[in-house]
Amino acid sequence: MEIRIAQSGVTLPPQNATDGDIFGSRGTRRVPVLLPYPFVGPFDYAASPGLVLAPGDIVLVPLNRRQEVGVVWDAPSGPAVADTKLKPVSARVDAPAMPAPLRRLVDWIASYTLSPPGQVLAMALRVNALVPPPMVAGWRAVPQAGSVRLTPDTNSVRLTPDTNPVRLTPQRQRVLAVLGEKIIPGADLARRADVGSSVIRGMADAGLIEAAPVPAVPPFGRPDPGFREPTFSAAQAAVAAALRALVNAKSFAVTLLDGVTGSGKTEVYLEAVAACLETRRQALVLLPEIALSAQFLARFERRFGVAPALWHSDLGSRTRRATWRAVAEGASQVVVGARSALFLPFPDLGLVIVDEEHETAFKQEDGVVYHARDMAVVRARFSAAPAILVSATPSLETLANVEAGRYAHLRLLSRHGGASMPAIAAIDMRDAPPPRGKFLSPVLVEAVRARFARGEQAMLFLNRRGYAPLTLCRACGHRLACPNCTAWLVEHRARRELSCHHCGHTAPAPTVCPVCAAEGTMAPIGPGVERITEEAAELFPAARRLVMASDTMPGPHAAAEAARAIEAREVDLLIGTQIVAKGWHFPHLTLVGVVDADLGLAGGDLRAAERTVQLLHQVAGRAGRAEAPGEVKLQTFSPEHPVMQALISGDLAAFYAAEKAARRPGHWPPYGRLAALIVSAEHAEAADRCARALGLNAPMAPGVEVLGPTPAPLAVLRGRHRRRLLLKTRRDIAVQPILQAWLAAVVVPRGVRVDVDVDPVSFL
Ligand code: ADP
Ligand code: ZN
Repeated sequence: MEIRIAQSGVTLPPQNATDGDIFGSRGTRRVPVLLPYPFVGPFDYAASPGLVLAPGDIVLVPLNRRQEVGVVWDAPSGPAVADTKLKPVSARVDAPAMPAPLRRLVDWIASYTLSPPGQVLAMALRVNALVPPPMVAGWRAVPQAGSVRLTPDTNSVRLTPDTNPVRLTPQRQRVLAVLGEKIIPGADLARRADVGSSVIRGMADAGLIEAAPVPAVPPFGRPDPGFREPTFSAAQAAVAAALRALVNAKSFAVTLLDGVTGSGKTEVYLEAVAACLETRRQALVLLPEIALSAQFLARFERRFGVAPALWHSDLGSRTRRATWRAVAEGASQVVVGARSALFLPFPDLGLVIVDEEHETAFKQEDGVVYHARDMAVVRARFSAAPAILVSATPSLETLANVEAGRYAHLRLLSRHGGASMPAIAAIDMRDAPPPRGKFLSPVLVEAVRARFARGEQAMLFLNRRGYAPLTLCRACGHRLACPNCTAWLVEHRARRELSCHHCGHTAPAPTVCPVCAAEGTMAPIGPGVERITEEAAELFPAARRLVMASDTMPGPHAAAEAARAIEAREVDLLIGTQIVAKGWHFPHLTLVGVVDADLGLAGGDLRAAERTVQLLHQVAGRAGRAEAPGEVKLQTFSPEHPVMQALISGDLAAFYAAEKAARRPGHWPPYGRLAALIVSAEHAEAADRCARALGLNAPMAPGVEVLGPTPAPLAVLRGRHRRRLLLKTRRDIAVQPILQAWLAAVVVPRGVRVDVDVDPVSFL
């Protein structure tokens, strides 16, 4: 993506956009309110007497006999409804107003992705986050006769009058000692003082302690930029200084921070965060995978003394509310989060970092389809802040922006502290095949044993969850498929079920073939990570094994515990899917075996090769990050493939050059633009009819091309039949106006849906 505001039809507000109009007594009578629903734009309401409102204010308004939460938007939408017919705004919600840069971001994303602005607003307006964070009952000590208590606000001394002396049992003394000057929730207090709740009640009755409310979520500490400053190498110091300068400039600029895994990119970008803390602005760090946050949080705390706020969709509601408020009030200075953190109401954002910027996990595929990396850049622009994109294997999109001079480029060329890059070699599976029905080549098995013999750790990587990706009947050849999707069911043996990775459909594993009724003929085909674990258990019975997969390791806590066990050498063999690939720093891990290096190439979409290089380079980067040199073995059937050659030689530059040369002539991204239309309907004919109509009305112009319609590779998904069309334009042609005109020309019948995916990443 490139920020050419004029192209997507949004006018660029001044950087540092400020709140404009005032609605209400002094200003206009019309108040535009955007509601978190897929309407075409804001609705006008009438200003109520005495209620002065400004853009960004969160309000309650009547809509279809209900009260709805909305946000006062920036310009009245016009006289479609007469002034006299407008309904009045009901009330202003007691919550911090939505800052102007976030309103601009909502408008921008809506117009870039062709989504209704209210649907984008819904992501920024987690309505339950608006409710003030809850307070719970706590206790504090009541000063006793003859003692004094300084109240912090007045600094005055309050002497309590003499009361009857109360007995201070050892239990009561413990309670008072724990309390000190603090307010502590009841349950916590009882636990920490090791007393029963009756002791606490008794003390309250005796007037020794009194009830006081405390926030249910402890307040966020202030990160201290000088807490533990690192000693940088000369190269790191130069990059850190450049990043600090960007933050101190307080203006928009995008920089790619590129360096091999283990070169200290994280260490260095934390300096940008330190600079941001010194300027008292807020910082946002986006991570592709929230499982990664565990190690990041620990590192952050080592560097700054306290943990940052964490934001992702699975936060508990108390924490979510407290975090949202703390961000809105500026009390939380640094947030690390998944892509939804882009929509937090930072009043003064001074830095945006996107770590592992090449990751496709930044693309949201449901609802509003947007790329969080690109929108992070837009958010930085509206906040007059620098954006730093970080990767060891940058996306071709970002590299193209560097080449065009739009993004600056900072590099770290070697691993920190003399650690060398791992030696990568292919195992040709045609020459050294595994035994029948097995998946690990004897060459890899030997290499793992050698590592164990030296007391080092090894990792087996396979980017596939479950036991086997396909189950078929050996008698009749029937394959178990999902009833709702064009997909095979994946066996999850540990859970004793088959499941569809697209729609979540599950079924018990059958013992007889559902078609020919033969008994005991259903056979698993191909490996998933569970099956590799089984094979490893037979091969290395003495090794302590740990499996890391997104379904067995659901949250950051489980991942943190796993990371701790690995760092503490409580594990010999780590087996995992792509969640082990990213960002982790395991100093004792020296061998990485990639079980199926060819896996990602099979799909064959535009970025299959790029993604495989990125993923495998990332996995390889887990090996040998400390003193002991690392080794990587790629099991492949085509060691001569350019992707394998790039990985083995370590010459990523040559690979990138070849990839660019392949994409440039056909105007494929990043040298052209793509937008996909996905037509879906319950009935195949309805989908076909609509897709054909779109095909007949396809835009025709120089530099514009339409591919399709064709059945999507996932021709049926969740019971809906899907057809795809792909719009491809030259890079200097914006896709949004073309899409708008195109969609306006075709009537989409009821029951048929046309989803728009601008800059598609998935082609399924
Ligand atoms: P990257 O993000 O490029 O993979 P990291 O920032 O994770 O690299 O650094 C790799 C390892 O080296 C980490 O354990 C990090 O703490 C350590 N490291 C990097 N630079 C320094 C430094 N200047 N001083 C001390 N340790 C460092
Ligand atoms: Zn399915």
